Formats: sequence, structure tokens, C-alpha cells
Amino acid sequence: MLDIKWIRKNEELVQHVANQKGIPLSIAELLEWDDKRRLALQEVEQLRQERNRMTQQINTFIRENQQELAERQKQAVREVNRRLDTLEQEQREAEQRYRELMMLVPNQVSPDTPEGRSDQDNVEIKRVGEPRAFDFALKDHVALGELHRMIDIPRGVKTAGSRSYYLTGVGVALHRAVQQLAIDLLVSRGFQLLEVPLMVRTTAMYNTGFFPIGEDQTYRLTEEDQWLVGTSEVPLVSYYDHEIVDVTKPIKLAAASVCFRNEVGSAGRDVHGLYRVHQFAKVEQVILCENSLDTSETMFQEITKNAEELLQQLELPYRVMNVCTGDMSQKTYKQWDIETWMPSRQAYGETHSSSQLLDFQARRSQIRFRDAAGSLQYCYTLNNTAVASPRILIPLLENHQQEDGSIRIPEALQKYMNGLDIIRAE
Ligand code: AMP
Repeated sequence: MLDIKWIRKNEELVQHVANQKGIPLSIAELLEWDDKRRLALQEVEQLRQERNRMTQQINTFIRENQQELAERQKQAVREVNRRLDTLEQEQREAEQRYRELMMLVPNQVSPDTPEGRSDQDNVEIKRVGEPRAFDFALKDHVALGELHRMIDIPRGVKTAGSRSYYLTGVGVALHRAVQQLAIDLLVSRGFQLLEVPLMVRTTAMYNTGFFPIGEDQTYRLTEEDQWLVGTSEVPLVSYYDHEIVDVTKPIKLAAASVCFRNEVGSAGRDVHGLYRVHQFAKVEQVILCENSLDTSETMFQEITKNAEELLQQLELPYRVMNVCTGDMSQKTYKQWDIETWMPSRQAYGETHSSSQLLDFQARRSQIRFRDAAGSLQYCYTLNNTAVASPRILIPLLENHQQEDGSIRIPEALQKYMNGLDIIRAE
């Protein structure tokens, strides 16, 4: 959420960003409703004062035994009350419409964000590692998963429907190993690991900027004011909801959680294998810091580097992309995605997403800190994936496969796999 005064001053810019981000919102309409609600409030307050004055007069008339005047004044007060009811109703409606529109206002975007309509317009920043040239017919992760009894998609679909899977045997071991590797890396970098609630209130979804846009992506627990989170970013940021925090040093939080995504709007996309599923695990990094662009940028580089280091430890080729306006969410100020080479797709596929949000989430969540002068300021927040599995198993299995179908385990993972260095077919 942005400050309405700032929006008013930067009307054209905010409208431009909304258009770029594909958000159906008229800033002119928002400002009209802001005017209407202010005017209505002013009128309501004037009328309330008028009523108080009239009530005092009634008391005076009664004291002075002027019954007739008192009765006439009571009648006038009843009339004022009727007008007040109507005005208060109008004011509530204007307030509600204003709030609904405010919830759609996008965050501003950084000056180095490319303009564009979709991921096709994202700009490559760098590549690390060379995609491997295979001199044999490569197998995709589904075939490798079946060969080694690691991935069972048919039984997943039987039990849970499309975009579902079971991991079995060494598949489970790998899934847990990548997460533990990521957790250990983050803890060694000073992140505090939390076990977080995965069913959260509607307010947490709004306050972290996932609602109202994105509501259709989220599974609702019926009869309850609770939703299944699509990322632990929600409970991690909400940990400090409505609190005053100390960000003398940036607060670094991490969680390993299951994520649930409806994937509405992805019908027919990435239906093969483990790329786009309804339930997956993610180790997430979240940072809260002071409201300084420099600090935010430094933290952004740090959480991006953490993800890169993990990919380097997994010995996977990747590239870093500067995400364009049209591929960004409402809440994002600046976003870099990391895409890892996936041989079966003959393409890089997104595995990590690093974002700066400035004070967008903190305003909605009322998370503040005291600056050097003692005044309260909204924090800045950031987040990035450390690892998401099973998607990361796609490059991991496919890039490290050997001609005989065996799979090499990168050294960094071996200690989490009981020293296993190669997965061989039985
Ligand atoms: P996001 O929280 O949307 O930025 O996603 C972070 C990471 O989670 C992505 O880069 C993917 O690695 C993973 N991910 C997101 N959605 C899915 C999904 N439906 N299935 C599997 N992995 C996903």
C-alpha cells in the first residue's frame, strides 16, 4: 500500500505502473473516492456539531419552561438525525470503495526495472555455468524418477488429482537434502529459522500484499477465516504484524514450509512432471530492514547471492534475470529471478525469485521502527527463495544423469544423503 498523499502527487506515474503491471485500476477514480469520503466525513462532523448545539438548546428551553420551543427543536433534531443516517451511510460506502481501490494500487518500480508485458521481456543479467552437451539420449526427470523409483506421478494423480505426485525412496531423501542444505546455508548466514503456521487469517493475506489480487490462487479452508499459504513469506512477514521492531541490524528470517497453490490461470501450462504442482516445499528468506534504498539493495544482493551459492553447490548452470514490469506482482519494487538450466526443456526454468518491496507490506501490516530521531517509520521488506522442491529436482536429476541412467550426487549434498555419491538403478 502506498501513501495517498504520494499517490496524489504522482498520479500519472502510479497509473502508468498499474497499466504496466496489468492491474485494472483508475487512479483518477481512486482520488475521486478519496475526495468524496473526506467531504462526506466533513459534512457528517458538521452535522453532528449542529445536532449537539441543538440538543443543548433543547435543554435550555426545558430549563426555561419553553415547552413549545423545546418540542419544535426536538422535531428539528429528528430531521437532522435522518439526514445524518443518510450521510453516514454515504460516508461508509465512500470509505469502503476507497479502501477497495487502495488495495489495488501497485508498488512503484525501481528505475532499473525494464518495461515489458511478460516474461519474454525480462532482461538477462548474467549466466553462470555452461549447459552440458549430452553425447547420449538424455532422459527427463520423470523417466529418471521412474527408473530409480523416486517419483510417482500416476499414484499422485490417483490420490489427489492433477499436478500431484508422490516422492519415494531416494527421491524423498533428495527432496529433504536440498532443503537441509539450504537451511544450513541460511543459518550460517545469520538467518533465524522459524516453524510457521501454514493456515493463516484473511488479514495476513491482505497485509502481506497477496490479497485481493491473488485471492483466486489461494486455497480457502471453508467455514473458517483461514487460508492455506502459497509461501511462508506470509507468516514470516506477519510475525511482526502491528509491532515496532528493532532494525538497527536487518532482521533475517527463514522457514521451510509446504506451499499450496491453486495455479488457476495455468491450465494446460507445464503439465508434464514436477514443474508446476499444487503442493511443494520451499525454504524462504525474508528480510526486514530500515527504510533505506541502499540497505534494501545491499540485502537484495545478499539474498540473491545466497540462492546463487546454493545453485553453485548443487553444480547447476543458471542465469539471473531482471524481471520486467509486466511480469511483476503488485507489491514488487524490484525483482530478479534465477532460472536454472533444465535439459529436457532445453531451456532455463525459474527456480528462484528475489524481490524488494520497500514499505508496501509494512504499511499494510503496520510494522514500524524508530529512526535515529525517535520517530516511527515503516520498515522495508524483501524475500527470496533459498530452494523450492520438487522443482529443483528437475535440473538436479537431469543435469547430473549419466549415460547408464545413474545420477551423480553433488558433493555438497552427499553428507545429507548418508554419503551417497551416485544413484544407481537397482
Ligand atoms: P514465488 O514464491 O512465486 O516467487 O516462487 C518461488 C519458487 O517456488 C519458484 O521459483 C519455483 O521454484 C517454486 N514454485 C512456485 N510455484 C510452483 C509450483 N506451482 N510448483 C512447483 N514449484 C513452484
